[in-house]
Amino acid sequence: MKANLKSHYQVLIAGGGNGGISVAAQLLRKQSNLDIAIIEPSDKHYYQPAWTLVGGGDFDINDTVRNEADFIPKNAAWIKDKVAQFVPDENKVILAGGDAVTYDWLVVSIGIQLNWSAIKGLEGNLGKNGITSNYLFNVAPYTFECIKNFKGGKAIFTNPSTPVKCGGAPQKIMYLAADYFRKHGILDKADIHFYSGGGVIFGVKKYAETLNKVIQRYGIKTHFKHNLVEIRADEKKAIFETEQDGQKVQVVENYEFIHVTPPQSAPDVIRTSPLAVPDSPGGWLDVDKGTLRHNRYKNVFGIGDNTSTPNAKTGAAIRKQAPVLVENLYRSITGQQMDAMYNGYGSCPLVTGYGKLVLAEFDYNNEPIETFPFDQGEERWTMYQLKKRVLPWLYWNKILKGTA
Ligand code: FAD
Repeated sequence: MKANLKSHYQVLIAGGGNGGISVAAQLLRKQSNLDIAIIEPSDKHYYQPAWTLVGGGDFDINDTVRNEADFIPKNAAWIKDKVAQFVPDENKVILAGGDAVTYDWLVVSIGIQLNWSAIKGLEGNLGKNGITSNYLFNVAPYTFECIKNFKGGKAIFTNPSTPVKCGGAPQKIMYLAADYFRKHGILDKADIHFYSGGGVIFGVKKYAETLNKVIQRYGIKTHFKHNLVEIRADEKKAIFETEQDGQKVQVVENYEFIHVTPPQSAPDVIRTSPLAVPDSPGGWLDVDKGTLRHNRYKNVFGIGDNTSTPNAKTGAAIRKQAPVLVENLYRSITGQQMDAMYNGYGSCPLVTGYGKLVLAEFDYNNEPIETFPFDQGEERWTMYQLKKRVLPWLYWNKILKGTA
């Protein structure tokens, strides 16, 4: 442990991404002398929502990354390490470097795990030979290379059956690709397929209706309940698993390029800890969906992609979760009853082409709860500008500072 760091903190925050920094900043705005440390291994902080536009060639990848040091709040300590083990029965975490840190209160916000290895043949082949994904900083720019170099043939976009961060991201890049092909006069040579492990294009009916029209407009072919299980990179073949008459069958597709969204779960360090929902395959952090407090460890809270709350896993959700968590944690610290409740708000800015976006906003019941006084189910240029220009600014300047 570095000399200026302690072995006990009043509030310990695991993860300094969107959720962790938002919570730290908001807590310190409530009371600036709280004794807070953030455990975060990365020097860099990423604005992941813009990776969709990076893949579409409409955003510079270098504008999606900044130094983590600039966003650790002034009064918080930064433990530059990662949690290797949660030991909540002893109010303790063990760091990868071997040190133990104890806490009065713990906030868990270490994001989601991308399970690339669940797809046979994928590892080592991402980012080359027409295999791409916007889910990685290093690979997202290659998506645009694939789109630009496409001359016709089959373009495949996949979506796993697990929850993913930003449920709309696997299809947004498909619409950008289709629009790019249309603009360059090759849409009729493009055979675009969406292979999804899910059963519908989008869970909220109002927005699904618009998306189905978009799919028709671009001539996209959809295949639901199909999971990508293998890529044979040297043959440019993708293998999907589906069920027919109760039997598992495989479907083999050739591709010119394939955009892969990997299966996702809670990070192993949560999944294998007492903090996970018992006996659950996803291993999510077991929190109450209203208060965001752990269901069994009353001094543990959770926010963001790693929790069991059944909302859309987005930064937009974190924006509504953070004030709830902060209020409930602060009331707990000061011996009061918790009184804030999260309603499951999630938002998905569904990019449907260049300069076209449907701003989906909805709650736990998949009921739309819209911000603007117009029909957000329609594709709009203004909402595309919101995603491209306003939201990134809001993220770096307000959300991470705890003022929005
Ligand atoms: P993250 O921001 O991922 O932060 C987790 C942090 O924990 C990281 O800094 C990591 O280094 C750290 N960490 C990991 N393991 C450990 C450990 N063991 N110990 C300590 N620290 C650890 N959201 C939207 O709202 N709108 C969008 O349009 C949108 N589009 C997206 C498009 C793409 C392609 C992607 C990938 C994401 C998109 N998102 C979008 C989702 C959004 O980025 C995430 O929901 C959000 O970043 C989640 O925040 P988080 O704090 O839970 O996790």
